[in-house]
Amino acid sequence: MPSRGHSEKNTALTQMAQRLHPFREMIERFGLLLGKQAELAASFQPVDLDAFVVDEDAFLQGTPLVSFVQPDGFIHSFQHASKKIWPFMSVLFPALAPGLQTLGQLADTDPQWVGLGVQAMTHGDSAALEQAAALAGVAPDFLLMALRAVFAPCVTAHKKILTALAPMDLWRHPHCPVCGSETDMSNLENHPDPSEFLVSKSGELWHHCPSCTHRWRFIRLTCPSCGNAEHETLRKFSSEELPHEYFYACDKCQHYVPGINLVERIDVVDFDLAALGLIHLDAVAQSKGYKPLSPAPWVAMDFNDTP
Ligand SMILES: [Zn+2]
Ligand SMILES: [Zn+2]
Repeated sequence: MPSRGHSEKNTALTQMAQRLHPFREMIERFGLLLGKQAELAASFQPVDLDAFVVDEDAFLQGTPLVSFVQPDGFIHSFQHASKKIWPFMSVLFPALAPGLQTLGQLADTDPQWVGLGVQAMTHGDSAALEQAAALAGVAPDFLLMALRAVFAPCVTAHKKILTALAPMDLWRHPHCPVCGSETDMSNLENHPDPSEFLVSKSGELWHHCPSCTHRWRFIRLTCPSCGNAEHETLRKFSSEELPHEYFYACDKCQHYVPGINLVERIDVVDFDLAALGLIHLDAVAQSKGYKPLSPAPWVAMDFNDTP
């Protein structure tokens, strides 16, 4: 049952694929995956994350909300989402199909294995990730990519419950306060406070989460990867034709994050597709030797074959 939002997303993706023709195939495939994840998140019946209590001090020090969920809180949602997402990914990316099929069988039959995957996602637990990868006979990087794709709609569906009891406005860490993911976009935006007369012309910096779609404010002129704040080693690149699209790069840790200057734009931006529309900047940044901070799957593609 396609909603209006669904067809708008399709139109946006078609235009994006036309505008960025060399990346057309990647945009089409990853666009379908993003659409499937959004559709699933919207159709989910959020479960009662019983006994979900936020430790406010730990939260303000940088612990994301998903780590306060009881260990088995996401297991059922995860199993449900894995049945929808992994078979869909196998069609989009046939080379991944055998590995994803193995993971799907484990997710179906082994709740303890699912528990390890959920632990890896909710606590960034690399030992749990390695153990789950060894049990499945796949590489940890492959498992991480696959787990992220399934965990994304699970968290998105529970975002309202997770954020209701936490002081979200006080979060100023570079990673997502909800799920702990790194950002995929560092946008300049205006969020005028009704009590303020003056609106900053240069805008505030807002990060977007590629996993749970949350957006939060971050400090300007600081590398979100290593915390470097020396302006000599923080660089901004943009093209003459599209000056409002850019990427920030840090010469200390070599990471980059793309973004859009939205301060003077009035058109509606679909934040959940926007990073895919900056894929040409990923190609440029990586050709300059920078590494992506974003965990979005398309930034890990080999751009050398793309003109
Ligand atoms: Zn998130
Ligand atoms: Zn850095």
